[in-house]
Amino acid sequence: MTTNDTPLARKLKRQIRADGPISLAVFMTACLHDAEYGYYTTGAGLGRDFTTSPEISQIFGELLGLWAVTQAQSLRRPDEAMRWILTEIGPGRGVLMEDARRAILQAAGGVENVATALVEPSPELRKVQSARLGDEVRFFEQLCDVPDGPTIILANEFLDCLPVRQFVRDENGWHERVVGLSPEGALMMGLVGPVPAPEGTSPDANSVEQPVGMDAFIETLRVRFQAAPGRAVLIDYGPSGGSPTDSLRAFRDGRQVEPLTQPGLCDLTADVDFGHLARLAREAGLAVEGPMAQGEFLGRLGIERRMQSLIAANPSRAEDILLGAQRLVDPDGMGQAFQVICLSSPDLPPPKPWSLS
Ligand code: SAH
Repeated sequence: MTTNDTPLARKLKRQIRADGPISLAVFMTACLHDAEYGYYTTGAGLGRDFTTSPEISQIFGELLGLWAVTQAQSLRRPDEAMRWILTEIGPGRGVLMEDARRAILQAAGGVENVATALVEPSPELRKVQSARLGDEVRFFEQLCDVPDGPTIILANEFLDCLPVRQFVRDENGWHERVVGLSPEGALMMGLVGPVPAPEGTSPDANSVEQPVGMDAFIETLRVRFQAAPGRAVLIDYGPSGGSPTDSLRAFRDGRQVEPLTQPGLCDLTADVDFGHLARLAREAGLAVEGPMAQGEFLGRLGIERRMQSLIAANPSRAEDILLGAQRLVDPDGMGQAFQVICLSSPDLPPPKPWSLS
């Protein structure tokens, strides 16, 4: 297949020929979620293009499951046997939820008053998740569709799928980066403008990446966490301070590729602007903890102890277990590149591991 000639590329070219260039956010949304050809819609790179923390070590999902159940208990009044909802956004292949549920049920002696909700727009990924997790889970297209009630939300590598727009400034002012057509009719990036300065830009900034999908996400959390108590722990890659300016990247077969060359066949992601997320959440009245580096977070949740007991129970897998756990906390790798932020209902006290107790 020649560059730029996927079915989705042809569809986008027709659209651009008719209506003009599209923003990177529109391009990214089409690449990931187009109803016919989106990367997640079709499950094009399933099991090939990315490996995530829960797939590296089962301890990741187990620690998050145990964290979730402790947090759910803290939402309860002492006399209440409360039913709560464990929700995962973007469960991928369902590995995190499988490990989390197993740890929760083991800790609770097999009975816990928990319902499991998966927020997953992709029909292909739903099939994979359903095969792994059985009939105990319910699927929802969007977070706002999950029934009301006390909720603990988990999301690993979901925020980086939210669409971004990019703006750059030159001597003529601000311009937006868009996807249009070259004279030969191929997809091509270009600039349109001048446009008004993007909101909140500092006077010395010359390039800005705006996570446009984040506002709607925070608004959904605000409504949900006002109606019933809840917490969301969100784990993703992005700088712990400062904002990404040009981080849109594409991956295929574990290798970075040019975002325009294979629309629909490669994963598109952008670094998460945790500072912006925290600001939006505070403005919405949510309690905000973090971001904290993944290595520190897992360390404080007891990854070392959990790893030792897993090794004791499975001595023949000792080396794999050790290497997996080390990879998750590696300060030169995932332990620092990934950050964890926790957003909660207004007025809830800080959760572990931010609280001292
Ligand atoms: N959390 C998984 C997989 C991450 S891949 C893991 O850690 O292994 C990204 C996941 O987010 C996929 O399941 C994808 O379908 C989902 N996703 C992407 N955009 C989404 C959106 N807007 N709403 C909900 N889920 C989304």
